[in-house]
Amino acid sequence: MNLMSGLFDPKENALDPYGSIVPPIYQTSNFAFDSVESFRLAFLAEADSTLYTRGNNPSQVLLCQKLAALEKTESCLVFSSGIAAISATICSFLKAGDHVICVKGAYSWTNKLLINILEDFGVSHSFVDGRSMEEIMAAKTDHTRMLILESPNSMYFHLQDIKAACDWAKKNDILTTLDNSYATPLFQNPAELGVDLVTHSISKYIAGHSDVVAGAVMGSKELIDHIFYKGYMTFGAVMSPHDASLILRGLRTLPVRMKRIQETTEKVVDYLVSHEKVSAVHHLGHSSHPQYDLACQQMSGSTGLFSFELQLGTREEAEAFADALEHIRIAVSWGGYESLIIPLVTFWDASAPAEEQHPWNLYRLSIGLEDVKVIIEDLERGFAAI
Ligand SMILES: *Cc1c(COP(=O)(O)O)cnc(C)c1O
Repeated sequence: MNLMSGLFDPKENALDPYGSIVPPIYQTSNFAFDSVESFRLAFLAEADSTLYTRGNNPSQVLLCQKLAALEKTESCLVFSSGIAAISATICSFLKAGDHVICVKGAYSWTNKLLINILEDFGVSHSFVDGRSMEEIMAAKTDHTRMLILESPNSMYFHLQDIKAACDWAKKNDILTTLDNSYATPLFQNPAELGVDLVTHSISKYIAGHSDVVAGAVMGSKELIDHIFYKGYMTFGAVMSPHDASLILRGLRTLPVRMKRIQETTEKVVDYLVSHEKVSAVHHLGHSSHPQYDLACQQMSGSTGLFSFELQLGTREEAEAFADALEHIRIAVSWGGYESLIIPLVTFWDASAPAEEQHPWNLYRLSIGLEDVKVIIEDLERGFAAI
């Protein structure tokens, strides 16, 4: 975890005349210039200037520098949500007639961007099983411009062979994006494996306290500047200076939080794997995961998000398990202090086609920072209720 040194760059307070230990919050919408000439120069290089906070603000810029360093890329832009970062990134490079390949099981609103918005603007897409390079390659048309990866994705934590996918995409002049929210930049650096643009929902582990909604995209300066002048400035989903400051604070503890969460999760997974009522655990840090070897190759750690299936007789029992939990809260999102669960029985719809259904005995769990005993005792309450 030698990244700590990068996160505590002593030069960060050079911004502040008082030498404050914590970077100040620049709560200002705009910035003044001392001459027409310096004002003109700022307009000529707006992506590199602090001119207006829908653009650059020192609080955002400092965060961007840290996030780019963590993802080992040249440049970064931050947004008011993860999906804003994804939408601005994808829309900045596509035009009517283009085709996109996207892995199945990507974040739900990423799918909806392709289906509900881009289709109306003449951009077509194919969803593929990202575990198979053959399926990815077979989906290519003469108009394929972009490959959207998310490794691992949520619910079953399927991986893509990132290097193989990017080598193929490069040869075919296809731009690659990868949603790296699960792994954080500490456990996977997709740009090093060839991904052009890495996106994050900062709302999860990076901010880490369930109190901010934010996103980012990292890549080469050329690609990030292209997004700046297209999707970033025109959609305008910018991050507030105050949120940037909360995230800078979150970053300072990211390595210690991830270490703690990984250790706790391994114990909870071991407990679940050996429980007689558990029929499957989908955690890519466990050797039973079908892509465990690939995970070990392209990732340096696993995190606290996984799913498991219970042996249950009825959907009432599936609800009773979750309702009996006193500590683990039923909620969306993940990556914060508190452990959270999504019981998939919530979304059970008998009329939906079988291939669109998640089994009602499936639960997604996000392990937080609590003592492992508290979490296992709570799961025991759930088991006692079924
Ligand atoms: C939450 C999430 C997003 C969306 O991020 P928001 O910050 O909620 O907009 C995107 N991708 C993944 C994998 C997520 O979990």
